[in-house]
Amino acid sequence: MLELYSETLNDHLPQIREADLSDDEVLSEIKYLKNRLQDELVILGHHYQQDDILHFADITGDSLALAKEAQKLRKKHIIFCGVHFMAETTDMLISPNQCVILPDLNAGCSMADMAQVDDIEVAWNFIQASMNAGEKIIPITYINCAASLKAFVGDHDGSICTSSNAKKIITWGMKSGEKLFFFPDQHLGRNTCFELGIPLEKMVVYNPKLTNGGLTPEQVKEAKVILWYGYCSVHQGFNKKQIDDLRINRPNAKIIVHPECSFDVVQNADLNGSTSFIIDHITAAPHGSEFAVGTEINLVNRLAEKFKSQNKKIYSLSNYQCLCTTMYRVRPRWLLNSLRAIDKGNPINVVRVSNKIKKSALIALNRMLTI
Ligand code: SF4
Repeated sequence: MLELYSETLNDHLPQIREADLSDDEVLSEIKYLKNRLQDELVILGHHYQQDDILHFADITGDSLALAKEAQKLRKKHIIFCGVHFMAETTDMLISPNQCVILPDLNAGCSMADMAQVDDIEVAWNFIQASMNAGEKIIPITYINCAASLKAFVGDHDGSICTSSNAKKIITWGMKSGEKLFFFPDQHLGRNTCFELGIPLEKMVVYNPKLTNGGLTPEQVKEAKVILWYGYCSVHQGFNKKQIDDLRINRPNAKIIVHPECSFDVVQNADLNGSTSFIIDHITAAPHGSEFAVGTEINLVNRLAEKFKSQNKKIYSLSNYQCLCTTMYRVRPRWLLNSLRAIDKGNPINVVRVSNKIKKSALIALNRMLTI
């Protein structure tokens, strides 16, 4: 194995082709290098990663929890097996002598890509111009977004939120201003605001592809919440028909979904909450329980396997196996490439956020942690 490593390692670290190294050889070399670099390395794995990757993760969790762990551990190299915005958030928290590496720089997030900071600024100006004099609007961004959006929020007295703390942050936002501008996920915004008692008629959706977001100034004036037209392509895969069918075919199943699912799905499910909430709830459920879960398939399958011995039946709410294809881009081969580069003293795919963006984004992040 070591011979293979020496042979394929060279200055420009080419992609590791299947013709060069079999899957088994890739896995065993990852194991070898992980062990060799253990003093300076931590591998973080998001819950939605495939098993072959999570198998090597020192810590698994959701994006913010992992970023905080990286900050605490102080290892020089952090390989984040997740998507781009997660690596950015981690870079904002770690010290300058640490670096965060994303094994595949193309591992983005379709939801994060739906909100560009230039479009947010255009929307912001239109909303401000449409409001009554003296009113204040608070911008809140879901943590699943680019660092530039986090910075925007930091510069405009707003906050970041996660799916775990969205209720708390939105409650704070509603107390701090007359209106809320929530991006990029319309569903998390709508589901949470509704749960907090804001009626649907008081929420409007700003679509950046339409002139003025498809809204009139009067609609903005009337609204309490302006939601961005963004969504998660994975959680968008669940629908009410699946729930209706399940109620007939599996009457004993509890339906538990993520709040990135549509309003209809969340309203008709038995329970909804963040990834951690879903894991904790299923973990605490009595032996023999049955759950249809509306979230990413890698996590659902892992929970099913983990609780098999407790006779818990756990499966996806959808027959279509909703998979996050961008998370799936992180393959063992790219993890190995990252490890080889670290071992050679020349890390690749390092994600860095500029100091200017970092400074403003940290204001928003710290505000969230304080709230
Ligand atoms: Fe983005 Fe959805 Fe994938 Fe999460 S599951 S990374 S929100 S596309």
